[in-house]
Order: sequence, then structure tokens, then C-alpha cells
Amino acid sequence: MAANTSNYKLSAAIANLKYNDLIPYPNASDKTTREFLQKVVDILMDYIQKQNDRNEKILDFHHPEEMIKVLDLKIPLEGVSLNQLIHDCATTLKHQVKTGHPHFFNQLSSGLDLVSMAGEWLTATANTNMFTYEIAPVFILMETVVMTHMREIIGRCWRKGDSILAPGGSISNLYAFLAARHKMFPNYKEKGIATIQGQLVMYTSDQSHYSVKSCASICGLGTDNCVMVPSDERGRMIPAELERLIVDRKNKGHIPFFVACTSGTTVLGAFDPLNDIADICKKHGMWMHVDAAWGGGLLLSKKYRHPRLSGIERADSVTWNPHKLMGALLQCSTIHFKEDGLLMSCNQMSADYLFMQDKLYDIRYDTGDKVIQCGRHNDIFKLWLQWRAKGDDGFEQLMDRLMELTEYMVKRIKEQPNKFHLIMEPEMVNVSFWYVPKRLRNEPHGPSREKKLGELCPRLKAKMMEEGTLMTGYQPDDRRPNFFRNIISSAAVTEADIDFLLAEMDRLGQDM
Ligand SMILES: *Cc1c(COP(=O)(O)O)cnc(C)c1O
Repeated sequence: MAANTSNYKLSAAIANLKYNDLIPYPNASDKTTREFLQKVVDILMDYIQKQNDRNEKILDFHHPEEMIKVLDLKIPLEGVSLNQLIHDCATTLKHQVKTGHPHFFNQLSSGLDLVSMAGEWLTATANTNMFTYEIAPVFILMETVVMTHMREIIGRCWRKGDSILAPGGSISNLYAFLAARHKMFPNYKEKGIATIQGQLVMYTSDQSHYSVKSCASICGLGTDNCVMVPSDERGRMIPAELERLIVDRKNKGHIPFFVACTSGTTVLGAFDPLNDIADICKKHGMWMHVDAAWGGGLLLSKKYRHPRLSGIERADSVTWNPHKLMGALLQCSTIHFKEDGLLMSCNQMSADYLFMQDKLYDIRYDTGDKVIQCGRHNDIFKLWLQWRAKGDDGFEQLMDRLMELTEYMVKRIKEQPNKFHLIMEPEMVNVSFWYVPKRLRNEPHGPSREKKLGELCPRLKAKMMEEGTLMTGYQPDDRRPNFFRNIISSAAVTEADIDFLLAEMDRLGQDM
């Protein structure tokens, strides 16, 4: 049943009051404020319960032009009542896609970790900015502790390095690029492009996240100077090709300086061979960055860390998004450096109204001048609280469980070869496959059938969304037309949910 949003009513005494009857306004009462907020919490609790009810739909799909009619989104001249605000909150969640539903397999970030969520609630209430110790003492210290812990997990020699939380993996990758360029050309910061006598070139695989390429455009190289290195049939960068392309540009007088490896590619979940790439970076004096935004979580698993992430300790920088595999709430992304001091010397602007040198306390705890933002959202508390709850062991169990469920899914797909075609053995929780409707089951597999299976993907996905019972993603890649990419990154998922996923695709798609 869809939530009946009119179930949520404030008591008659306060229903028609306004925002200025809440704290901190002069006419406010604690009682009104408490009832209002308690009602919001009731709505959130009901949403959480509903989201975990497997009989509930994931979404109630409307096209944007219908949705805008269903919702009342206009900003009024005169503000609405508290009761209307409660109604607005309920309506908003009623139409939201339930990304924590056990049948939501659509995105790298899914699930709802309640401890992390509690952290986010507290963060919202503390409502502080992360730029100085002065106004966020506890959170700044938590950031120091958790970042050091993460670096130690990357490698023992990373302890003395440096890290920062960034607004997403894309920006984390940008920080790596900036630090690499600063390390090689320390005068760039003051003198600009003229200090670099030659064309800078960066390298990444053709499977990398698009944010890597965008560094080349943002930072003045031009995307033609982000060389896309071919990958093998499993989506892993081919080291011999990397070296060939580096030599090729060197022969032209260019300056290859940066390699961005991927540990856990976005589509296939592939891991570049880090040790081989580290050898090449060393030989050519290049910065080695690892984009482990997606695969970083597996660093926490003794069973799955090797060989996937072997060699990561040899990198110069690592992007790792706890908001993906680890299930921290959006958003929570980290960038780590083996060498301390680079972030500060690269990005520091010494604004004298924030980062005064003559403060009461040790100003090394003012992290704000390491970043290209000014204000920074507090993304650390929810991660710290979640890690406190789970411990390293709990995170390891979660990683192992997600991988185990993926192995189960692969097994179930292989048991039904007439209905499903597995594209490759996954290295991570990304499972790439086609669904085969009845009419194509007797056709031998080849380019002609692949084309038809690819055409089916958007149609089957549309049906999933209209029914609201299941969400999984599809996309094409360089080698094949559309195929499904299923992601298991939510702690809510069980073997029975995998069985449901496959049975539901078959129910919706067999006659298509
Ligand atoms: C998701 C992802 C990113 C981007 O992270 P955002 O937090 O969405 O900016 C970068 N690299 C890889 C490999 C990713 O999977």
C-alpha cells in the first residue's frame, strides 16, 4: 500500500502554527518544537520500515511531466503551516525511489546503514563547517584518526601521509592530479602554465571513470592528452600498452607525468594490475594514482584484497569512497597521499580571516587550507560512528558477504543458461549479463543475438520501473551493445533476493 500521507497530522493545537513558533523564535515553545520534530522522525521511521518490506514497491514511477502535477512544489509568497510541512515531508518520501530496498540493485551506492544515518542526523544538527579546529574540534580529530586508520590499511608506509574528505570520488581524483602536478612543477601554483615547457600527458584505461578524463579538461591539458590505454577482455589496463603509449609521447617531446589506475571499474568491476603499472611508473618517473573509489572497500577483506589490490601501497595517491561498497551515507569520499605536506603546499591560499597563524591552538589542525573549497561538509562523523559500530571485523564481514552473494548470483545464472548469459566471471560485485527471452533461447550466441539481447535491455528496464518491483542497471561498452550490470552493495540483500531478481526478470521479460 502506498503511504497515506494524510496519516501524518500534528495535534490541532499546533497544526496551524508557523516556522516562527519553533525554536529559536521568541514565541517558540519547546513542546511545539518537539512535537514537530518527533513527527518528522515518525515519517522517517515509517519510510525505513516500508523500505525493508519486500512486498512494498521500490518506486511508484511517474514521468516528469506527470510528477510535477502530482507534487505541489511552488514557493509561496506567505509561508505554509507546520502541518503542511509535515505533509510535504511525507509526500516527498512517498515519491522517492527506495534505494535501500532489498530489490534495488541499480547503483554502486545503495542500502541504508542505520548507524551511518544516525551519524548524518547528528551531523545535520551540529551543522558546523570543517575548515577550522576552532569550530569543529571533535570532528577534526575524528577525521585525523579515521584517515590515519584508512592509510594504514592501504599500507604501513602510508601512516605518515596525508588525506582529506572530498565531495565525491571525482573531486578526489582531481586532488590527486593537482598534487601530482604540484610535486613535479612546484612553481605552477604561482607562475602558471608558462613554467611547464612541454605538453603534459596523463594515462588511464579505457574503462576508467570519466572524472579522470575530466581532470585533463579542467586542468588545461585537453582531453586529447588524457591517453586512454586499452584494456583486456576483462576490463583491466594492459601494462605493455601503457608503456608503449608513454614511450610514444616521450618520443614526441611530451611530458608523461600521471597514471590513474582503477581498482574496481565502474561498469565491469575490474582491477588494473597495480604492481606491473607501479614498475612502469617508477621506470618513467611518473606519479601513480589508484582510483579505488569503488573497489577500495575490499582492502578490508583478507580474502578478497589480494590479488585485486596487491601493489596499492606502491601508489602515490588513492581515492576511496566509503559511500560505495562500505555503505556510508552519501556522501563520503576520501583521497589519500603517501607524502605529507603536498595537499597544503599545493592548495594553500592562507586567507587571513580564517587561517590566522597566531591562534590559541596548534594550527596544523586547521584543515581548511588544504582544499580547493572554502567550507567543507562534515562527512566524517557518520563514517566514524559506523566504523565504531562495526569495527574492522564488521566491515570485513560485510565485504565478504557482498562478494559471497555475488558468487551465489553467478552460480544461479550459470544454472539457468537458457535464460541468462553471463558475460564474464566478475572480480567484484558487478555482475554483467544478458537476459534471454523465450524467442531467442534457441538462437546460437553470437553478434546477431547480442544485438537483439542489447535491444531488449531498455525495454525490460522500462518494465521493471513501471512495475516498481525491481531495479538493476544496463549500459553498452566498447565491446558489446547494452547489457545488464547488477550491483550487490547493500547489506539488506539475501540469497532469496537474488532468486527474486532472476525470477522477476524472467517473469517480466520472457515474452518480450
Ligand atoms: C563512482 C566512481 C567515481 C566517482 O565518484 P563520485 O563520488 O560519484 O564522484 C570515480 N571513480 C570510480 C571508479 C567510481 O566508481
